[in-house]
Amino acid sequence: MTIEVRQLRKVYPGGVEAVRGINFDVGAGEVFGLLGPNGAGKSTTIGMLTTTIAPTSGTARLAGFDVAREPIAARAASSVVFQEPVVDRGFSGRGNLELHARLWGVAGDRIGDLIDAFGLAGIVDRPVEGYSGGERRRLEIARALVSEPRVLFLDEPTVGLDPRIRHELLDVIAGLRAQTEMTVLVTTHYLDEAERLCDRIAIMHEGEIVALDTPERLLEGLGQAIVELRLENGNAPAALAPLRAQGIAGDDAFTVGSTLTIPLHEHTAAQAIAAVDAAGVRTRSISTREPTLDDVYLRLTGASLADAA
Ligand code: ADP
Repeated sequence: MTIEVRQLRKVYPGGVEAVRGINFDVGAGEVFGLLGPNGAGKSTTIGMLTTTIAPTSGTARLAGFDVAREPIAARAASSVVFQEPVVDRGFSGRGNLELHARLWGVAGDRIGDLIDAFGLAGIVDRPVEGYSGGERRRLEIARALVSEPRVLFLDEPTVGLDPRIRHELLDVIAGLRAQTEMTVLVTTHYLDEAERLCDRIAIMHEGEIVALDTPERLLEGLGQAIVELRLENGNAPAALAPLRAQGIAGDDAFTVGSTLTIPLHEHTAAQAIAAVDAAGVRTRSISTREPTLDDVYLRLTGASLADAA
């Protein structure tokens, strides 16, 4: 395994237990997502894996190197793209890439390949300070790849980008997957992003991993479709009881505030809606839709990723 995390834990001075003994493995070539709302512990986990935050206990290995005992070797095997800019704004894009290649003792012809792969040819000779947010991110990912890392960490790579640029960048990141044996660990609080990019996803909540699987399998548990009821009087648990008794709602139905969410397994949406009427449940609205990772998260934690984002 390229990344091995065992019982990894971080308690900050002052007593906040940001990461509570998590375990996961990521294989060569895998794109692995850490998904969770603000405060879930994603950045702290990445900080420990990139040797900038000392674990309180537990271990993490990158390409076999222990991040606490062999930090230099662990760092040499990996590259990080943080949210904060790291490129030198006064230099051109090419200047930044060349500087980084010299630091790593990497041959210059690799830079040409990266410029092409990241669509930087048109801007690479301009100073970085004139780059748009999306251009700068592309340059930063290219720079991170100069050293040919075994592991690439991307911390919230699309934060602050407008939707069009965000999708462009996601295509670029998705393209990394096809390329190499490189392992990618990406943190995000965007569900669609995790679903689109990742082979497997760990959902974090209050310092713990509450689910870990492929996006397909995380969603599979929620059936073919979801019926969502917004109730008039707000007593969602009381409305759920008769629907459970009739077998329309299963154990995986859940309530948040006045919203009742029912994954459908054996019934159609029309049957579910008829049962809601028959049970005399008064609704403000009823909708049907496909399950999302937000449902997975809600069911596990009672909190919404989308609200937190
Ligand atoms: P995420 O990246 O998922 O938003 P973080 O790892 O940043 O989560 O934070 C997890 C928890 O640890 C939060 O409660 C946060 O307030 C706390 N925390 C993060 N950094 C520090 C720090 N340097 N000192 C104390 N508490 C921190």
